[in-house]
Amino acid sequence: MNSPHPVLFLVSADSGCVRADPDAPHVSVMDLGVTRGDGIFETISVCDGRAQALEPHLDRFARSARLLDLPEPDLGLYRQAILAAIEAHDDLAELYVKTVMTRGIEGTGVPTGWVYAAAAADFTTARTEGIRAVTLDRGLRHDVAQTSPWLLQGAKTLSYAVNRAALREAERRDADDVIFVSSDGFVLEGPTANVILRKGSTLVTPRTDQGILPGTTQASVFEFAQAEGMNTEYAVIPAADLLSADALWLVSSVRQAVPINRLDGVKRSIDVELSTSMTSYLLDRRD
Ligand code: PLP
Repeated sequence: MNSPHPVLFLVSADSGCVRADPDAPHVSVMDLGVTRGDGIFETISVCDGRAQALEPHLDRFARSARLLDLPEPDLGLYRQAILAAIEAHDDLAELYVKTVMTRGIEGTGVPTGWVYAAAAADFTTARTEGIRAVTLDRGLRHDVAQTSPWLLQGAKTLSYAVNRAALREAERRDADDVIFVSSDGFVLEGPTANVILRKGSTLVTPRTDQGILPGTTQASVFEFAQAEGMNTEYAVIPAADLLSADALWLVSSVRQAVPINRLDGVKRSIDVELSTSMTSYLLDRRD
């Protein structure tokens, strides 16, 4: 039966993947995901009923689990729950699916897992007209993943309170989004997106060993660019390069590619042609 409401499946080693009422409570107040934000998640875009970059998202889910010393998630069960949630959801052009695994109820050592599908917001204006971004200091060096792996930079953890605080700071500065810069002056990522710069006919993104999330959307954008005959590059990018870049984007699942039309209050031109073809490539992905 299709539903216009979010569709929820609980995922556990004991019961497999079981559909549940999204309006009913399912997670204990003693769950470490709730009390400490100790867990991991993925958000996957679904276009015309197809989950995009499903396997890269599942691989990254498992990678985050390893970084947090969590039990290995049963990717077969999560895949089954994702596909079942999409199948059971109302047929909308754009949905998203969220997968969550927490460390579970304190003392049990048994993770809590769930997957839900829900309608995506309308990002048409952001995709076509762009967004205003500000740079914010993340307060960590670009080599933090090597020097202090316990800070879990680059893992997709449930502890996103800092990411949301950065977005509120952007709002206070009259902007929509953020580009984090390392304390030693290198471009990192957004609170929920990767950064791509165009320099001539080359697309450049920060190297993923700098405590940032390796993006599934960024990887797709690079596939698109290579097919278009453009060069692509992973680099350590000084913050000043943001000013000299020909165009800038934030790219992520669900919102896809959004051009930046203002950075730190300074107006920037957006590359309408490349943005349009990038967005249609991203929306047309069927796996
Ligand atoms: N960086 C961070 C911190 C994110 O939270 C996200 C996505 O939510 C991304 C980058 C982009 O990753 P993806 O394109 O796989 O959604």
